[in-house]
Amino acid sequence: MSQPHSANQTRTTIPDNCIPDNCRSSRMSHIVNTDVLIIGAGLAGLSTALSLPKSLNITVLSKAALEVCSSHYAQGGIAASLDKDDSVSDHVADTLVAGAGLCTPDNTASILGAGQQAVQWLCAQGVPFTQNSPNALDNTSAQEFSQLQTSDLHLTKEGGHGCRRVAHADDATGRHVMDALTIKAQAATNITILPYHEALELLTLPIASSQPFFTNNSDAKYCRGALVFDHINGRPLTFHSRAVVLASGGLGQLFKRASAPNVCVGDGVMMAWQAGCRLANLEFIQFHPTGLALDDSSFLISEALRGEGGRLYCPKTGVRFMLDVDARAELAPRDIVARAIAAQIDNNGLGYVHLDVSHLPADFVKAHFPQIYQTLLTLGIDITTDPIPVAPTAHYSCGGVVTDANGLTDVPGLYAAGEVAYTGLHGANRLASNSLLECVVVGRNIADHLPQYVTRLANAEKMNNDAYRDINQSVIESWSVPTLTDAQSIILTDTLFTASEYDNDDKDDKLSGAEADMTKITAALKVLMTTNMGITRSAGQLEQALTQIQKWQVSLASTELGQQNIIKNDSPTNIHELAYFQLTRQLALATLIIQSAYQRMESRGGHYRHDYPKLSDIPRASVVEPQREPYQQHISAAQSINISKTLNNMWKTLIA
Ligand SMILES: Cc1cc2nc3c(=O)[nH]c(=O)nc-3n(C[C@H](O)[C@H](O)[C@H](O)COP(=O)(O)OP(=O)(O)OC[C@H]3O[C@@H](n4cnc5c(N)ncnc54)[C@H](O)[C@@H]3O)c2cc1C
Repeated sequence: MSQPHSANQTRTTIPDNCIPDNCRSSRMSHIVNTDVLIIGAGLAGLSTALSLPKSLNITVLSKAALEVCSSHYAQGGIAASLDKDDSVSDHVADTLVAGAGLCTPDNTASILGAGQQAVQWLCAQGVPFTQNSPNALDNTSAQEFSQLQTSDLHLTKEGGHGCRRVAHADDATGRHVMDALTIKAQAATNITILPYHEALELLTLPIASSQPFFTNNSDAKYCRGALVFDHINGRPLTFHSRAVVLASGGLGQLFKRASAPNVCVGDGVMMAWQAGCRLANLEFIQFHPTGLALDDSSFLISEALRGEGGRLYCPKTGVRFMLDVDARAELAPRDIVARAIAAQIDNNGLGYVHLDVSHLPADFVKAHFPQIYQTLLTLGIDITTDPIPVAPTAHYSCGGVVTDANGLTDVPGLYAAGEVAYTGLHGANRLASNSLLECVVVGRNIADHLPQYVTRLANAEKMNNDAYRDINQSVIESWSVPTLTDAQSIILTDTLFTASEYDNDDKDDKLSGAEADMTKITAALKVLMTTNMGITRSAGQLEQALTQIQKWQVSLASTELGQQNIIKNDSPTNIHELAYFQLTRQLALATLIIQSAYQRMESRGGHYRHDYPKLSDIPRASVVEPQREPYQQHISAAQSINISKTLNNMWKTLIA
């Protein structure tokens, strides 16, 4: 692994006139220069890093250890039309069906159309994909695996796919993929990987509003780096870069039962929003139907078990309930299966249902699902004979930072790829195994676009005459802002109740400064999100959740840390301030998600409302417009967003 802080020896230095205003203060004494800053070391981050030209100096940040990312945990595989009887158009058609009217057709076709090249690229990196004829190669080394062709690969079938389409490496695809890419990235002399470096805010410079490209956006900015907290040395760092790639993953850990690791709390979504990006479809959280329901386990039971014939039973009645729910039974799209399981659990007072593969040949099960077999065996469950207790778990964020299929966001110089991004591929419900593919395809697309953007900036900076104007011109010429058609803006307004009303109404609930225990609030937020913003929702539940979050925000603001934070208006410089920063940001993001769910008065894909069980006539993406005001205080984002009864009525009128 590259040594932490070797990024200090970079080849480029960014001129003074290009240093963002918010990093000129003395607290920003540790400045690191790099050509490209990639925030996230999962599949999206490493695919981008490895595909960029070697002439660029690249720094990749990871919030924790490298293996702590969703990509590493992925089991099932990566979807692409590789079979001779399959086609890109069939893959697109299945994806559009799962996406329930909200996929962006052009981006979907473009991303899925690059599927075969993406899997071939992974083969070339030495990923040990499972093959049709295991003896075709003497598979002993990465070099041997790099000779694999996509036609050699064994394909599985998963829910929602019309045919076998999922390339995999046993049942631990993510681990094998990430091991192969990590080895390559660590060996690359132009890539520095910094684990335990947490990005906090993006750095931006203004673009002159006189430029025609941005006439409607006087706040237009471009991205030049990030403020980062170095957990190894307990200090803040400032990274100056020519471009930034957000690859920071999803937000599942805002929920109590989640398959993603604890780094996935939506940092990238909030950083991008604060930097001037639109967010879309945040309410579409996909719940995986079959998380292992043992204690607080986040272990996932892959969809591929159902793909190979696994059946779901109610443990109380013994009924194979999916037969009555959908003609595709256990292979129906995830939202349908997850809701059916949740209904069984609720209606029968259970904590789980049973997933059973004991009718399949034991040798087949052990050979195809070695990781699941071994993991459950250590927990006392032999899946060749015993049923597996499963329950739905928060699994994937279909929405995120608005990008095009090349990863360009609303802010020039800022790209986004992977689960943090919203390309429109997943619509209202992600088709299984399309997400790993999206990481690779969009990461590689970014690597195609980024060098010319960076070259233009670099050339402009070399010219001393009126460099600022030239930089702006370069930015404008090399960037196209993603378009969203049929979108509906989420209305964010001032607070529902003021702090004084709150004091009068609800004294007992209010935590005093000393009592505002951040650990407790973090845990309570997860429970609240699972209970009120879970598989099914209603206006009452969502209003209750918004009110509760606001109470926590008010309590936190009254703590010593909260008061200091308001006065200081800075990024955190120590771990106490960091904990406060993280929690207030999570509360702000939860508010945006709930607002989006509240204002979508229909049921579609992964979003199900008890009070609005039907589809609306016109499918529309929901968009949270960028935060216009500077990010003054870390609570301000959340506090400035709330909903009133008046607003609710206004919204109903608008969409009626
Ligand atoms: C258990 C499980 C199984 C899955 N199985 C499949 C599957 O079979 N097929 C499929 O297509 N999809 C699957 N998915 C979904 C898929 O794995 C993810 O969507 C995908 O891996 C996301 O990749 P990513 O690179 O965007 O993010 P991740 O792989 O999650 O990486 C995020 C990176 O960002 C870093 N990061 C986060 N915040 C910060 C910050 N503030 N500063 C610095 N770094 C930060 C993290 O440390 C990490 O390095 C699965 C997901 C899970 C959880």
